[in-house]
Amino acid sequence: MPSPQLAVIGGGQLARMMQQAAIGLGIHIRLLAEAPDVSAAQVIPDHLVGDHTDLDTLRSVVADVPVVTFDHEHVPPEHLRTLEAEGHACRPGPHALLYAQDKGDMRARLGSLGVPCPRHAAISSPEDLDTFGYPAVLKTTRGGYDGKGVWVVRSAADADEAFATGRALLAEELVDFRRELSALVARSPSGEVRAYPVVESRQAGGVCAEVVAPAPDLDPRLDAEARAIAERIASELDVTGILAVELFETADGRLLVNELAMRPHNTGHWSIDGADTSQFENHLRAVLDLPLGSTAARAPWTVMVNILGGAVEDLQAQRAVVLADAPGVKVHLYGKPVKSGRKVGHVTAYGHDLDDVLARARHAAALFTDGVSP
Ligand code: ADP
Repeated sequence: MPSPQLAVIGGGQLARMMQQAAIGLGIHIRLLAEAPDVSAAQVIPDHLVGDHTDLDTLRSVVADVPVVTFDHEHVPPEHLRTLEAEGHACRPGPHALLYAQDKGDMRARLGSLGVPCPRHAAISSPEDLDTFGYPAVLKTTRGGYDGKGVWVVRSAADADEAFATGRALLAEELVDFRRELSALVARSPSGEVRAYPVVESRQAGGVCAEVVAPAPDLDPRLDAEARAIAERIASELDVTGILAVELFETADGRLLVNELAMRPHNTGHWSIDGADTSQFENHLRAVLDLPLGSTAARAPWTVMVNILGGAVEDLQAQRAVVLADAPGVKVHLYGKPVKSGRKVGHVTAYGHDLDDVLARARHAAALFTDGVSP
């Protein structure tokens, strides 16, 4: 068996889809999984089960592996600095990951770079919030995901739940946005950068529901600006691997950065079937400092729709129904137990007619989620 070239910390669907790309490139991945049956542990034979916050566990996973990357952003930075001191390359490194882990630090850093962001302030009391003004969006600076840890507040009374968390909070202006965009880039340690087409991401209940690539009717000026912002952040923060920059396109035609992710991102899943090189393959190429692949779209339109846990409990049984009824749609199931609202897979459709592509992808996802199509 070839020796492992890459350790991946975290056994979710992102690591699972990294393995899909690793197979083609002949890359041997060693995985640290949270439990023996998690999504990526099902498909990566060389895995250990343990806690990613425990330094000795991390050491045993990476022992004979030169490069380390991540399925999530939750490994304590001090552990990553220790692994680096012991000779392992962490990609992205802790100096970059900080800005994906802490929204307060991210806002401060982007502000110093002159990158456009919503107006914001650190909040430690209801009085601070009154001073900031309403309406506002309150966020825990750490640990939020899929809209958890985010509250729209119109008065101090709306903020009780946020203050009850006892966590550091950040207030932002409530942005009047037309839509949400996402700009993904891959960047390698030698500095090669490639930007994916800018996409539109549509959320439902704080969770990404669907992604359209490229973002329909995007002003070429904003398209170029979004890519330039993502490339600049990747270079200035020294990000290696995939960087996803979530953006608001405001009602008056400006871009504001919402947040950063330093790993393959839900808004890049379309690229598996829709781009010359998927975000997972380019993430592997980038962190291993291999030449990056073309990020060009293969079809005029690609739509990705998430499969969220719903009425259908047995996705395996439902698969045959979907494949028969939506033959051109690509199916990606994550091997996760169905729980209400949880991301358990996604589907992708592509073609020349956006309405047709959207309808086919939504139809297939609805069959997986609800068993019927609307
Ligand atoms: P998470 O870390 O949970 O993904 P985000 O900061 O991305 O949190 O916020 C989740 C969603 O809340 C965003 O996708 C957006 O729809 C909405 N949101 C976040 N910040 C703002 C803001 N300043 N103004 C308006 N809506 C916002």
